[in-house]
Amino acid sequence: MDIHIIPCLKDNYAYIVENKKTKNACVIDPSESAPIKDFLNKNKLNLKFILNTHHHADHVGGNLELKKEFNSKILGFEKDKERIPGIDIVLKNRQIWNFENSDVLIEHVPGHTSGHIFYYFKNEEAAFTGDTLFSFGCGRLFEGSYLEMVNSLKKIKSLPSKTKIFCGHEYTMSNLKFCIEIDKNNAELKKKYNQISNNIKNKLPSVPSDLSDEMNLNIFLKFDDYKFKKQLGFQDLNEVDFFKKIRDLKDNF
Ligand SMILES: [Zn+2]
Repeated sequence: MDIHIIPCLKDNYAYIVENKKTKNACVIDPSESAPIKDFLNKNKLNLKFILNTHHHADHVGGNLELKKEFNSKILGFEKDKERIPGIDIVLKNRQIWNFENSDVLIEHVPGHTSGHIFYYFKNEEAAFTGDTLFSFGCGRLFEGSYLEMVNSLKKIKSLPSKTKIFCGHEYTMSNLKFCIEIDKNNAELKKKYNQISNNIKNKLPSVPSDLSDEMNLNIFLKFDDYKFKKQLGFQDLNEVDFFKKIRDLKDNF
């Protein structure tokens, strides 16, 4: 199956997963309907399902119009069933859902919101992480504790390292600036910054990123890296306190 990146609103991404043989498709987090509709019509795709990672308006804004136009079914987590517009299929934690003979693992990842989930397409080795893990960053905590977010990020870290991360926003440049500010002498981070700033200049998205790069460079995932914590003088902080420190620094960056 092919995965198409659809820029929406100011800096959101929706994603269309297409079965090239059947022309059936699903969309993840349609912030708005127009760019999704355009793509589907241009490519003559049938939108069977609308998948939401969480209830925020910039992730569900296109739900109802798309459902009406394409007669699609809307999926979301059970905890969000009152908050996701037009929801038809209520998902449970660790459920395996199936799309066009491809298994999709659902994992509950609270922190950004209490009902946030990610979708992991096994055959495609692709995870749609919404506003939980960003490329070289992570989402703000609106409804969850630091402990919940650390546990949620651990679930993403436990996916195969070659997993491609498709996140909800183009925040990569600002995230990398922050990573470099904290992890000052990391040459790989600077290389990544130059590479991605070229993409952005050429109006190319920075997504998807590789989970292996995230594990290696994303400072929000380094709460269990003693050497890194020591380098910053934070070796006495436990995983959650270290994560809190980094998250708070970013919130004031
Ligand atoms: Zn959000």
